[in-house]
Amino acid sequence: MLGPPGAGKGTQAKRLAERLGVPHISTGDILRGAAAAGTRLGKEAQRFMDDGGLVPDTVMIGLVEERLGQADAGRGFILDGFPRTVGQAQALDALLVKSGRPLDAVVQIAVARDELVRRLAGRRVCGDCGTLVQVAVAQGPNGRCESCGGPLLQRDDDRVETVGKRMEVYERETAPLVGHYRAEGLLREIHGTGSRDEVFDRITGKLQ
Ligand code: AMP
Repeated sequence: MLGPPGAGKGTQAKRLAERLGVPHISTGDILRGAAAAGTRLGKEAQRFMDDGGLVPDTVMIGLVEERLGQADAGRGFILDGFPRTVGQAQALDALLVKSGRPLDAVVQIAVARDELVRRLAGRRVCGDCGTLVQVAVAQGPNGRCESCGGPLLQRDDDRVETVGKRMEVYERETAPLVGHYRAEGLLREIHGTGSRDEVFDRITGKLQ
């Protein structure tokens, strides 16, 4: 699942994984989990994440290789947030060829930049159940999760100061992957505007 920060990759990847009965593998979630647990990986990654930069390729490739080797990924998987650089894409290709299960498709979710900035400013995550919600910016940082009543929090890297850097990093490091996967005939381009259901229907329609 490819797309800039705020395009809706996480939401759509989670739903697609549920529909297909395969794991949703979000490298951002894995890194945030490691950071919350205070592991060495987590501490190392936190510095890059807080700053809106990328965790080095060698760390990410090792992490994904290990995750894809777990039993639940044997029947397939949805990758969300990986690969993010040409180096990661090449390593992933090699890894999947080695294990005899190449990618079936790369879904790119496209959203205009001013819409992305607006969405990220209003994005909150439930501190208890992890549900992502959109709040009106005027509403401020407080509020409760509709699913479980947990506290709604803003990710540190969704703060306005960091969002611009994440966009630049996306354009420079990750956007070139669009051409890479188009050339391989794997790219499925989706407009990410509209409701979550509309976007999901577009994705499943392109994966027939
Ligand atoms: P995400 O939740 O996908 O937006 O990821 C949050 C942050 O985790 C990113 O801004 C990066 O700092 C880091 N991260 C996640 N995935 C990767 C990756 N594939 N390569 C490098 N850094 C990553």
